[in-house]
Amino acid sequence: MMELRPETLLAQAAGFEDPATGGLIPPLQPSTTFLRDPDNAYRRGFDYARDRNPTYQPAEAVLAGLEGGAEALLFSSGMAAATAVFQALRPGDHVVVPEVMYWGLRKWLLETATAWGLEVALVDTTEPEAVHAALRPGRTRLLWLETPANPTWAVSDIAALSELAHAAGALVAVDNTVPTPLLTRPLDLGADLVMHSATKYLNGHSDVVAGALVTRRTDGEIWPRIRTIRHDGGAILGPFEAWLLTRGLRTLHLRLRAACGNAMHLAARLQEHPRVERVLYPGLPTHKGHTLAARQMQGGFGGMLSILVQGGEQAAVATAANVRLWKRATSLGGVESLLEHRASIEGPSSPAPANLLRLSVGAEDVGDLIADLESALAAAEA
Ligand code: PLP
Repeated sequence: MMELRPETLLAQAAGFEDPATGGLIPPLQPSTTFLRDPDNAYRRGFDYARDRNPTYQPAEAVLAGLEGGAEALLFSSGMAAATAVFQALRPGDHVVVPEVMYWGLRKWLLETATAWGLEVALVDTTEPEAVHAALRPGRTRLLWLETPANPTWAVSDIAALSELAHAAGALVAVDNTVPTPLLTRPLDLGADLVMHSATKYLNGHSDVVAGALVTRRTDGEIWPRIRTIRHDGGAILGPFEAWLLTRGLRTLHLRLRAACGNAMHLAARLQEHPRVERVLYPGLPTHKGHTLAARQMQGGFGGMLSILVQGGEQAAVATAANVRLWKRATSLGGVESLLEHRASIEGPSSPAPANLLRLSVGAEDVGDLIADLESALAAAEA
């Protein structure tokens, strides 16, 4: 088949046609068990739904295609996907991870992975020198990256850091939840594995918790171990969630384009606002990682930004209290806009400034979004 552009791959869910019925929409297969052939074989490839289910196939094919990978695996959540990568290492292995990253994974690494024997080094991955100094040739097995990173949208150089990690004998895995493969393809830049919280943009409708991993190659040591971890540990996605995820994926390009346009507009407008101390968005030339983001990200800077509200934590919380249209809720990547005070969620170890509000920009009219935020900022001042 000709190589298809991402938009085509997405809109047609990898070109699905049901051989039994001619249906163009992938069916939902709820069966947990599958019939053996009379000679006891399973020629149709399915035996038991932990972890083989035909409903996974369209989403896994689309994700592998979008990321330019050899294979994708769905998981029951983004955390199940991310932790499978670390579980595929061995006690005593050393890993380098960003100081600024999804807080839930940082917490799991510091509490659970270290108790299990992984040695975890937290590093400022926006500084290649710091990563170079932290890598221990022969002992570091994995460099984990997230870019732009939650919630300051710090940008790390995947290509440069992959070179450094590979020279030290380490693999590179990238949490690509926020840019999605439409804006950044880590495997093209040298990474070995890509992880997604498919709960976010990939599904896009805030009605599925799901995760995914994509690999550059299926040989080597780590991918077969990850496959075994999913199968044996059983952190699989339910067929209904997998079906919804495929349905959501079909409009990813349209939703993301709307979110990127709205986020750019909001960032430019909010940075002029007297009640906003700073806007953190990689699309703004004032952002520390802007030049790198402009090189590394294609077609937009994403739908996530943060604002530092004048007046400290109280003013930030009061702004959140006064929104009407924006929803005060955690998570990101849906078509509805969400806003959240991160420091109170992440706790004292959080790198989020106390006056930071994280904005997940949706697909609403940007004028409505601006008007609601401006009136919340004004109400918080009063
Ligand atoms: N990675 C990022 C960047 C996230 O924002 C999240 C969730 O907020 C996760 C990973 C974890 O994903 P999940 O909630 O699907 O387990």
